[in-house]
Amino acid sequence: MVKKRIFSATIFILILSITTSCSIMGKDLSISRDAFMLDTLVTITIYGQDDQEIISGALNKISELENILSVHKEGSDLYNIRLNAGIQGTKVTDHTMNVIKRSMDYYKLTSNDYDITLGPVIELWKKSSETKSLPDVKRINELLKLVNSNLIQIDEDNNMVYVNKGMFIDFGAAAKGYIADQVKEYLIGKGVKNAIINLGGNVDIIGSKVDGSNFNIGIIDPFANEASFLGILNVSNTSIVTSGDYERYFEVDGKRYHHIINPKTGYPANSDLTSVSIVTNNGLNADILSTKTFILGYEKGIELIESLDGVEALFIKKDKTIYLTKGLKDRFKIVNDNYKIIN
Ligand code: ADP
Ligand code: MG
Repeated sequence: MVKKRIFSATIFILILSITTSCSIMGKDLSISRDAFMLDTLVTITIYGQDDQEIISGALNKISELENILSVHKEGSDLYNIRLNAGIQGTKVTDHTMNVIKRSMDYYKLTSNDYDITLGPVIELWKKSSETKSLPDVKRINELLKLVNSNLIQIDEDNNMVYVNKGMFIDFGAAAKGYIADQVKEYLIGKGVKNAIINLGGNVDIIGSKVDGSNFNIGIIDPFANEASFLGILNVSNTSIVTSGDYERYFEVDGKRYHHIINPKTGYPANSDLTSVSIVTNNGLNADILSTKTFILGYEKGIELIESLDGVEALFIKKDKTIYLTKGLKDRFKIVNDNYKIIN
């Protein structure tokens, strides 16, 4: 929405960790490139080799997938589904089918907080953020009638998707995670063994540093005006995705309206969290779960994450307390005294 940090991103790769790996004789190769894509700052860094063509290929992959998965790109699968809503089914790529199916699984998991059919409501809030005026409650309630992932009709054998008139799908909470996974697969296929794919805070790490040690990933301080860290996660070979209320928002009469919508109310989720970072081996799952957990809030969020195998999380509450799941306790270090770990 209107106010957006380029580094929304939540996550910086600490320069320190990069220079350390660069100092190792003979293994000091690394290349990195930035681009503005997916409505955010994208950075691809590969270590141990310096083939620019691999990076170009990765960036092309992102743009190719954006043209399939973004409802805002004319001719994309989601654009066509919207165009055909209430008229006929739309033939889509496997990519779209994969994201829809995974989204349905997570929609059904607990309380339907993550819902890709929020498209019409998200669009309404986007317009509001542009004019800095609140949407009409009646309009929100009208559009909410179009929101229900159970109404998506899919024919898996023929890759067809149908939605009712007025409905449309928005992958805003999942596309970056899915695309990061695809880029990861592409890079591994090119022989890359150590890399960091950072799609505006959706981070996928391939392997470790070249010397075998973990990367240090900075977690952004949600309350800072300038991008800075509140702590550092020491990890390798994983995905880290953060959702927060400070990433994209606008203000009316001093009240903040952020971009994560509660499908039950049609309003920005009134969460006691200010941010949540999910750490797991799949970027799509991490992306979906970060959004879902943010909406669930602290207690229900912890309950959900702790019920899932192989998923860890770092919760930051509005009162600046931090909760870490078991697997992250030895991996996280606070660097800002304003925050306290409470477990
Ligand atoms: P970001 O995209 O800023 O990294 P998220 O992954 O949390 O953050 O996704 C937020 C985006 O997802 C919104 O901009 C919107 O497009 C979409 N969205 C908002 N609320 C929901 C929701 N409850 N379920 C599914 N998608 C949502
Ligand atoms: Mg998300």
